[in-house]
Formats: sequence, structure tokens, C-alpha cells
Amino acid sequence: RDRLRLARYLAAAGITSRRKAETLIQAGRVKVNGRVVRELGFVINEEKDQVELDGWLLHREEPVYILLNKPSGYLCTLADTHGRPTVVDLLRGVTQRVYPVGRLDYDTEGLLLLSNDGDFTHLMTHPRFEIEKVYEAWVQGMVSRKAIERLRAGVIIDAVKTAPAKVRVLAKRKDRTLMEIRIHEGRKRQVKKMCASVGHPVVALKRTRFGDLTLDGLRPGEFRYLTKDEVEYLQ
Ligand code: URA
Repeated sequence: RDRLRLARYLAAAGITSRRKAETLIQAGRVKVNGRVVRELGFVINEEKDQVELDGWLLHREEPVYILLNKPSGYLCTLADTHGRPTVVDLLRGVTQRVYPVGRLDYDTEGLLLLSNDGDFTHLMTHPRFEIEKVYEAWVQGMVSRKAIERLRAGVIIDAVKTAPAKVRVLAKRKDRTLMEIRIHEGRKRQVKKMCASVGHPVVALKRTRFGDLTLDGLRPGEFRYLTKDEVEYLQ
């Protein structure tokens, strides 16, 4: 059980997805015990063999899957933060090197998954992967029925139409509306761009669900590990 194919090993080390790992192998960037291996079927013994990518020795880690209630004011990127805090700063006690599964903006709060399993991350962020994400967006102004219909039908952002969304109004204030928006896609700044495109800029955004997963029991800044069942359900 300690023997596995090289691409799988690279994915398990959190480097990338299995498919992209195959490209790295074919490009001659991976060495096993000091020798370049380009053979996709190559099987390694993870107890004994030393695997390097671009000269860096890799360690296979236990896969971990984390659900974080991200507060506003934290970055999901890990590099070049100009001193701003990142979500990794919140993961006290987590020794594995984990990466966000998709991103929430600096000022967006709510449900964020993190993992060191490259295949999992790739699967969760792939457009064909149809898990529903639910957002609560406070937007400027009173949102008309027509604007809601347009959001439901799909709007053009970055020259591409968004897939149909489920949209409903949860609350109204004098000059603000709280909307629930359910989407399957995960395009960059998608919810903000959708709302802005119908004339209602987002003033506060929170992701409340990812598939069946919710923020239950987690205050902002708190996290928990996913159970085995939850990971299996997602995959
Ligand atoms: N859509 C956005 O606009 N921002 C996020 O952080 C997530 C979804």
C-alpha cells in the first residue's frame, strides 16, 4: 500500500492535480532518487524513494480537508501579501501546507475549504463540477423584480454569460437589499460582477454554503476538519 504511481504521489503531495502532474513528469521536471523519470506509469515506493520536482524534495503528507469560516480582511493567496493577513494565519495547529479550494475575496467572508490534496482542489474548482455555492449579498439600492429576473437568467460578465442562478430577496432596508444567490460556477469575483452588472454593487458578501456544507458551529475565524463522510460526499 506504500507503492503508488508517480503522478498520484505528486497530487497527494499537494503540488497539483494528477493530470497536471503528468505534464510535469513528461516535461522532465520530476526526479526519483536523483534520476529524471518521464514514464507516466512509473510506480514509486513512498517509504523509500525520494521524489524531487524542479530540484525540490517532496514529502507526501496526510491529506487534510479544512472548513474555515473566513472573516473579512484575510487574503486567500499565500504569497505577495504586502503584509496583509492570510487565511493560513487562522489555521493554528495545522502543520500541513494547505491551499484554498477556490478563493474568496479579501473582503468576502464565510465558507472556505482548504486542502493539501491537489486532486481534490482541482475537482472542486473545475467548472464541470456542479456543486452549489450559496452567497448572501448585501447590495446597494432596492432591487427590482426585473433585476432579479436578469440575474436568474444569466448576465454577461467578462464577455461570457453566467449560468442560470437561483436568486431571492431575504431582507430590505431603505437603501440596501440582502439577496441570496445560488450558483454552480466559481468565476473570479463572480457574485460582485453579477450584481454590479444589474446596477447593484455589493457592499458585503458572505458564502454560507458549499454543497451540503454549512458554517454551523463556526464563528468567524474558526475552522474544523471535514469528516471522512463529508470528503466522500464532495468527491
Ligand atoms: N464572488 C465574488 O464576487 N467574490 C467572492 O469572494 C466570491 C464569489
